[in-house]
Amino acid sequence: MLNINKMKKFVVIGGGFAGVEAAIKLRKYGYQVTLISDRDYLFVYPISIWIPTKKKTFEQVQIKLDILSRKHGFDLIIDKVTQIKHEQNKVILSKENINYDYLFIALGMHKIHKEGLEHTHSICGNPKESLIIRDELSKLIEQGHGKIAIGFGTNPKDVTATAVRGGPAFELLFNISHYLKQKGVRDKFELNFFAPMKEPGRKMGEKPYKKMGLFFERYKVKTFVGKKISRFEKNAVVFEDDSKLESDLTIFISGGSGHKLIEESDLPKSEAGFVKINELCRVEGIPNVYAIGDVVELVGPKWAAKQGHIAEVMADVATYNVHNEIIGKGRRKSYWEKLHIICVMDSGDGAAFITRNHKKDFIMPMPIIGHWLKMAWGFYYINSKLKKIPKIPGM
Ligand SMILES: Cc1cc2nc3c(=O)[nH]c(=O)nc-3n(C[C@H](O)[C@H](O)[C@H](O)COP(=O)(O)OP(=O)(O)OC[C@H]3O[C@@H](n4cnc5c(N)ncnc54)[C@H](O)[C@@H]3O)c2cc1C
Repeated sequence: MLNINKMKKFVVIGGGFAGVEAAIKLRKYGYQVTLISDRDYLFVYPISIWIPTKKKTFEQVQIKLDILSRKHGFDLIIDKVTQIKHEQNKVILSKENINYDYLFIALGMHKIHKEGLEHTHSICGNPKESLIIRDELSKLIEQGHGKIAIGFGTNPKDVTATAVRGGPAFELLFNISHYLKQKGVRDKFELNFFAPMKEPGRKMGEKPYKKMGLFFERYKVKTFVGKKISRFEKNAVVFEDDSKLESDLTIFISGGSGHKLIEESDLPKSEAGFVKINELCRVEGIPNVYAIGDVVELVGPKWAAKQGHIAEVMADVATYNVHNEIIGKGRRKSYWEKLHIICVMDSGDGAAFITRNHKKDFIMPMPIIGHWLKMAWGFYYINSKLKKIPKIPGM
């Protein structure tokens, strides 16, 4: 009976934090797994903040999926998924069609469009944009002076704001400030932060939010908050009252929205375009399809946020639940109980350790050592994935 079940074919779409963790865990349970990704590498976003300041190269921030496929024994297809036909248990790729018994959707999210977005760069979108930011920053340093504006926005349809990505904006601001100081040109640059909400960063909790002012002061960052952004121009951020923030380099992380493929599909989705799942990570009303990571509508407390470790928690919960269902074991896990925020907000010369859960929020400034802690995490994350995980005995 067990061996027949092991013949079940799992297809995972998306080769990021969520998809790779799910593929590894499913292999650990002994299933046949095919992972499909349009990139041939897993991009380790949390450490990509160091590409613009040249602390990491692009190659140091990725894990090649073919190495992971060999280590963990899953099949790999590098291709773009163009359609999910769940009623036929099939995904359509640009070059072929793939059938499955169980599907795991882990495609990440997209961003909402704003007028003039082409005049900005994002550290949270296409990985290659981190290289453009690096090169633009280098040009300004060569020029010897400049104005840099970094900000983030929301998606009005994402009512719980779980898809707001503010942390990387703060990290980039403080890292760039530190980098300019090291280059001896900090006083020749204006570094500005902008966000439409009145209290950006509040999601982290009361205590961390109150400390943000100290960071802005320390890294000499001016703030422009609480004013809606009406558009971007080549050298400016334009606010709703027509006031302008001049900028030679604008970095903007737009509010998250559903992946285009999901928006266009007939899968159940939220108004913002995120896949609707239950607490087991199963897509509502479709028993053999699970969705995990940034692609889903996160349901939980007001402070819940889409993060890499939550993507991994969901991969763990979903694989455990589907396996127990297949082998007829009653136990299930819920991702709701496991929601929390953990963030090491790096500044290039230190960091702040921030955590928030159902009971409390906490911040601990960690000058110098915090930076090395985050660096060590990056090393650990990459190497832990490259280590072959033994199968669970008896599986
Ligand atoms: C700059 C930055 C810093 C961050 N820092 C932290 C941090 O410190 N701590 C933390 O916990 N989280 C952090 N995050 C958040 C974290 O990176 C994300 O939550 C995480 O990457 C989500 O994983 P995912 O697998 O759901 O999506 P992704 O990592 O976005 O992966 C999506 C995958 O789907 C693939 N894909 C997309 N479309 C298609 C398609 N049509 N066909 C085939 N494949 C497709 C992509 O190639 C990719 O492999 C950070 C994010 C950014 C951007």
